[in-house]
Amino acid sequence: MKTKTRIGPAYFLGSDASDIASVLGGRKIALFLDFDGTLTPIQEDPTQCYLSEEARELLQSLANSDRHHVTVLSGRTLDDVKSRVGVRNICYGGNHGLVISGKGLRFVHPEALRAKPLIDEAGSRLEQEIAPFAGAWVERKGFPLSLHYRLVNQNAVRQLKSAFYKVAAEISRGSLLTVMKGKKVLELMPGIPWNKGNAVLWILERLGDSYMPIFVGDDVTDEMAFKALENRGVTIRIGRSKKTFAHFYLQNYQGTLRLLKTIQTA
Ligand SMILES: [Mg+2]
Repeated sequence: MKTKTRIGPAYFLGSDASDIASVLGGRKIALFLDFDGTLTPIQEDPTQCYLSEEARELLQSLANSDRHHVTVLSGRTLDDVKSRVGVRNICYGGNHGLVISGKGLRFVHPEALRAKPLIDEAGSRLEQEIAPFAGAWVERKGFPLSLHYRLVNQNAVRQLKSAFYKVAAEISRGSLLTVMKGKKVLELMPGIPWNKGNAVLWILERLGDSYMPIFVGDDVTDEMAFKALENRGVTIRIGRSKKTFAHFYLQNYQGTLRLLKTIQTA
C-alpha cells in the first residue's frame, strides 16, 4: 500500500474499496465516519439529510461485531447526529468532537462548557437583533449558536450579518468565542484549538493500541483527522482532491457503503 507524508492527491481506493481488504484481514478496527457527504449525499437543505436503511443496517452490523469500534463524528450537534444515524452500540461525536458519547466513552471539552453561558447570552441578544429580518432564525442547540439566513431577502443579508458580528464582538471577550461561516449560516462557537483530529486521538487513546484506525470524511474539517492519522491508520476522502492529507479517496458516499461492506467481510 502506498502512503505519503505530505499534502497532495489521494490514491483511488478502487471501485469496491477492495484494495484495502488485504490490510484489514483479522484486525480490530476503529472506524471513524463523518456524516454529511460521507454516509449520506449532501443536501442543499441540511435538515433533509437522512441515513438510508442500507447504511443503517451496515453500521449496525459492524457495531454488533467485537472486532469493530464505530464512531460517527460530525459538525452537527450530538443530539442531531445521534437521531439521524440511530445506530445502537456505537460512539457519537458532535460539534467536531467537542462532545463525545457512547460505548462507555463520555467527553465534553471543559473550555466549551466555560464558553456556554456566553453563547447563551449571545443567543438572547441576537434573537432581539434579528427580529426585524424576515426569514432569519437563530438555532440554539449544543455549543454553537447558528444564525440561518437562507430565507432572508438578499438586500437585507449584509445588514443582518453586521448585526451578528456586532453581537459576536461584544460578547466574545477575547478568544473565548469564534465565528465560523457555513452555507447561508453564521456560527458562533467556543474558540478552542480542538478539532476532529484531537477527538479521534482522544478516542484511540482509550481504545488502546490493538485497534487500527480508519477515518472517512469529505470536508475541510475532516482534514485535521486525516493529518492526525497520517502515520497511524488509513484515511479516506470522499471526493477526489489534489490537496488533501488523506491517503485514499472514494468517489462518493456510495463508495463509503461499499467500504463498510468490505470491512464487514474482511
Ligand atoms: Mg461531511
